[in-house]
Amino acid sequence: MKTNKNFNNLVPNYLFAEIAKRTNNFLKENPDKSVIKLGIGDVTLPLAPIVVEAMKKGADDLAKKESFKGYPDYEGYEFLRQAISDYYKSFGVDVPADEVFVSDGAKSDCGNIGDIFSADNTVLVTDPVYPVYVDSNIMAGRKIIYAASNQKNGFAAMPDENVKADIIYLCSPNNPTGSAYTYDQLKEWVDYANKNNAIILYDAAYEAFITEDLPRSIYAIEGAKSCAIEFCSLSKTAGFTGTRCGYTIIPKQLERDGENLYALWYRRQATKFNGVSWPVQCAAAAVFSQEGQKQIKENIAYYQENAKIISSALDELGIYYTGGKNSPYIWLKCPDNMGSWEFFDFLLNEANVVGTPGEGFGKNGEGYFRLTSFGDRENTIEAVRRIKELLKK
Ligand SMILES: *Cc1c(COP(=O)(O)O)cnc(C)c1O
Repeated sequence: MKTNKNFNNLVPNYLFAEIAKRTNNFLKENPDKSVIKLGIGDVTLPLAPIVVEAMKKGADDLAKKESFKGYPDYEGYEFLRQAISDYYKSFGVDVPADEVFVSDGAKSDCGNIGDIFSADNTVLVTDPVYPVYVDSNIMAGRKIIYAASNQKNGFAAMPDENVKADIIYLCSPNNPTGSAYTYDQLKEWVDYANKNNAIILYDAAYEAFITEDLPRSIYAIEGAKSCAIEFCSLSKTAGFTGTRCGYTIIPKQLERDGENLYALWYRRQATKFNGVSWPVQCAAAAVFSQEGQKQIKENIAYYQENAKIISSALDELGIYYTGGKNSPYIWLKCPDNMGSWEFFDFLLNEANVVGTPGEGFGKNGEGYFRLTSFGDRENTIEAVRRIKELLKK
């Protein structure tokens, strides 16, 4: 018996454990202080009422012989895939229902998609990066190269003609930097991928946070259907982080190396995945109803207002940042050239506010810091007041 030695190449991720450790130590030594967490990467508002209603009704269906459901279709129920297709149509993007796979979330799909690709592909990720893209490919033994996101390119890495990549992960609006690609920028990536016979794996988990005229989907870009797979999720859009539902789109025309990628993924899912439960698919469909959209947008607007409160303060302080506008994340340059962890300790000790050190997301995160808008309003306002008080010159 031999284990997968690629696991030895994983870099231990101490980020959130270290944050918890330092926060708890501080609280132990300063029991009278109230610490506000602006590092939360999880939603905090409850599910929309219409979504809960649909989930309850779905559960009732399972209680009766006439409406009981067993195994669902591998690719998800037709009514949900059609609702997703109509949702894309609402912002002008054509995604047929039969190119949609419903899943238990984008994290698993982003990682599992590697099953359909050979181990000897070169994977390109932007740095800083959502760790799932890196670790899942290290587990598979793939070579990983990095495209730098930095202040010079507004934390939106662009393709380099001299670099050869086979698989490209893009996340826009980005976690952790909050930056979002423009139509022209995404077109450059699509052109690069088509020219180099590469595949773009596009993570659109934060598309619902876009407020400006920016692409909500890679398929808003001409040429994307011959080079891109898109992942999306109801986690951040509709508070499904605990409920679990996402979807992956593979255009039927997408082929590489003589194979149809839709067919490969269908076979993979049919082998290793037995679908999403009936109550959850009912709840997901409710998200895409007219009333569902209205209700989930209220929650998103709440987070967006928090983001605005944070970014306005940074504007006042003259601190460089990306995100906040089209993203729940605000990615800022640590003041006075402090390191990420140095600023973490400074903010914790002097303002009793916790955020996420940027270097936890990659080399280019050194000297940067992530704040999130997923907290509640009162705490966000108070944290921002303390930050302003601490950093004003
Ligand atoms: C939160 C998040 C997701 C969503 O993952 P789920 O498994 O659907 O909860 C996907 N991609 C990124 C970059 C995220 O931050």
